[in-house]
Amino acid sequence: MTPLPPAAPDARDLLARRQRLLGPAYRLFYDQPLHPVRGEGVWLFDADGRRYLDAYNNVASVGHGHPRVVQAIAAQAARLNTHTRYLHDTVLDCAERLLATLPAEVDQVMFTCTGSEANDLALRIARAATGAQGLIVTRWAYHGVTESTAEASPSLGAGMQLGERVRTVDLPFQAPQRAGEPVPDVATAGAAFARSVQAAIDDLALHGMKPAALLIDGVLSSDGVWTDPAGFLAPAVQAMRAAGGLYIADEVQAGFCRTGDAFWGFARHGSRTVPLVPDIVTMGKPMGNGHPVAAVALRRDVLAPFAARCRYFNTFGGNPVAMAAALAVLDVLQDEGLQARAARLGSDLRASLAELGRRHACAGAVRGAGLFIGFDLVQPQDRHSPAPDIARQVVNRMRELGVLVSATGEAASTLKIRPPLVFEPAHAQQLVQMLDQALAEAMR
Ligand code: PMP
Repeated sequence: MTPLPPAAPDARDLLARRQRLLGPAYRLFYDQPLHPVRGEGVWLFDADGRRYLDAYNNVASVGHGHPRVVQAIAAQAARLNTHTRYLHDTVLDCAERLLATLPAEVDQVMFTCTGSEANDLALRIARAATGAQGLIVTRWAYHGVTESTAEASPSLGAGMQLGERVRTVDLPFQAPQRAGEPVPDVATAGAAFARSVQAAIDDLALHGMKPAALLIDGVLSSDGVWTDPAGFLAPAVQAMRAAGGLYIADEVQAGFCRTGDAFWGFARHGSRTVPLVPDIVTMGKPMGNGHPVAAVALRRDVLAPFAARCRYFNTFGGNPVAMAAALAVLDVLQDEGLQARAARLGSDLRASLAELGRRHACAGAVRGAGLFIGFDLVQPQDRHSPAPDIARQVVNRMRELGVLVSATGEAASTLKIRPPLVFEPAHAQQLVQMLDQALAEAMR
């Protein structure tokens, strides 16, 4: 959709230059596009000096411009920046630190620059390890921009043709949910999801293909944010393994303490006694707090067949500056206790949002874990059908009120609330207040 002409002349100029120089495939957020020129912690400042509370950007996960990350990047850039074909300790330090956060079976790691590249590499490795081609993803998945990941990203829209080797599976629930609607129990949801995956495996077989992998976003973000019931992914993973395929956990959204309960999003689908251990874990976005750093972590036996046939080198992936950024992010997550904070604040915030749900006829269910939250908006007449028009209005009104959120899901009717992990109770309160106002106005 073409954005409305922005009010400020400088924004109008920027918009015209963008369209001329970057071409028509890019999309901006908001009817009145935002022009931030500075970021600090949870705040973005626009060209006029107005500040916006950032409740959307999970990339700057430890806060915009975190001094420790900035300092680590600057110091390493001043000293040396080469690549992984020379010996260097930062890449090894980073590998050790990352692997220490993962299940013991996942014991090697390769670095890329983007989540798309990480998923693309993971697919090549999975296909080499299994000798199979088929790939199963969720119905409204997003996994990246390379050819093999875009053809497995139905959320890119109807214009994006799915790959011949790709099958999609429905989730055992559908958005929107009513406010307070109970989620199915884990046994029911797990069995239903496993049945969908089995049906996709059977369909691949009908077309002469075996499955190489089940690729799942740990918080099912583009599908509308589905984190519960915790454990529901596990039976589907079993079904995939029984058919000879691997489980690739796409943690680009879910990783790095976002869900509060664990360092990684997939962990909530296992238990202490039976942990869910992915064969491959892909990660990116928050990993460098804005610096392009991403990775594929995996079991050494999964990597071996690929490595026997093919070398791996990535010009920028794993370079000393990227690794310095990632190490600083790991330090900050730990030293500032951000996982525990995400758990605490996320649960309070979801409770406050659910409270709004009792007062506004267009408010549906609140979902999520830690500081990854989905809030369904529904048509007030039936309180059940999706309300993308209201979501759009609310997202734009929130921007006017100085709070940044977005919408996700197949109908684009689920508000996506995903602030930097350094969010504090006062910020959450401001978010809730503004949302209260925007929802009330949407009902007028
Ligand atoms: N996987 C998921 C789940 C994502 O959300 C994204 C990015 N939105 C990607 C992969 C691709 O990451 P990148 O944009 O860094 O290529």
